Amino acid sequence: MKLLLTGAGGLVGSTMGADVRVEGRKAPLRGYKERGRRWTDLTNWRETHNLFLETKPTHVIHTAARVGGLGANMSHMAEFYVHNMAINLNVLEAARRSGVKKVVSFLSTCIFPDDAEYPLCEHHLHQGPPHNSNFGYSYAKRMLDVQSRAYKEQYGLNYICVIPTNIYGPNDNFNLDDSHVVPALIHKCYLAKKNKTDLVVWGSGKPVREFIYSEDVGELTHRILEEYDGPGPIILSSGEEITIKGLVELIVKAMKFKGKVVFDDDKPDGQYRKTTSNLVLRTCFPKYKFTPLKKGIKKTVEWFLENYEDCRK
Ligand code: GDP
Repeated sequence: MKLLLTGAGGLVGSTMGADVRVEGRKAPLRGYKERGRRWTDLTNWRETHNLFLETKPTHVIHTAARVGGLGANMSHMAEFYVHNMAINLNVLEAARRSGVKKVVSFLSTCIFPDDAEYPLCEHHLHQGPPHNSNFGYSYAKRMLDVQSRAYKEQYGLNYICVIPTNIYGPNDNFNLDDSHVVPALIHKCYLAKKNKTDLVVWGSGKPVREFIYSEDVGELTHRILEEYDGPGPIILSSGEEITIKGLVELIVKAMKFKGKVVFDDDKPDGQYRKTTSNLVLRTCFPKYKFTPLKKGIKKTVEWFLENYEDCRK
């Protein structure tokens, strides 16, 4: 097997080994030295096609995407749509043309229909419009599932998708404007502690989320690459839910923050919940042990404090 990994500088990519590590120009992993590192603009067909022709992978893990939290999704709707459509069309087509046998691509649970039945199952993915706050990103990601299934149907290729719940961990984007909730709150808590101010949390604190540690996602993806040949996408979820308020308590504790926490109702709550079913995953890997959220948050906070100067923020 010769494995090419896209998004190698990102949150999940940085936990996985690969022969060819493709990073975006905007988010190279700082201080990371490993053979096989490449910078490629995957929104550019010629660059992407050349990458595959030169490196000749047999397998691909495709994590690269234009991503961001609730705020970034709302303010850059069109860019999230166009960049992700381009990246996915280019990567899968270049993989097909250069003879790649298996591709595991990344979707996300935030692309599910907004008024779906709970728990969310793999077959619900296209059964209704996504939440208004991220429809650009969501429709582009849904097309990655369509493209993978179409390639399986027409060319008999083993191209599949995984759907992780909210991923967090070291190497995340801690920028306050466009990060996801875990890195945003860790960074905000750090600043509130330093400046002796309140910690301001967006929304009511009532929405519910399922978080998954980035290293767990990396391990499961490798196992899926080697062992799973299912007909459609597979949800990666630990099956544990927590409210944003509960998450804030874990972060506050790990950061040893003693100040006041304020919930800002003027800021959006986003989707209220996205409870998933991990039945398919559990059937395939019944013994897999997920990192408990408390432990994962502690490791992420430690990494953030140690790498404050150099991390993406
Ligand atoms: P989502 O899970 O796809 O909606 O994306 P996020 O990771 O951005 O999580 C959004 C949830 O966290 C919403 O309920 C927000 O109201 C809540 N939240 C609380 N504080 C913050 C913050 O500082 N940044 C972000 N992105 N979300 C926050």
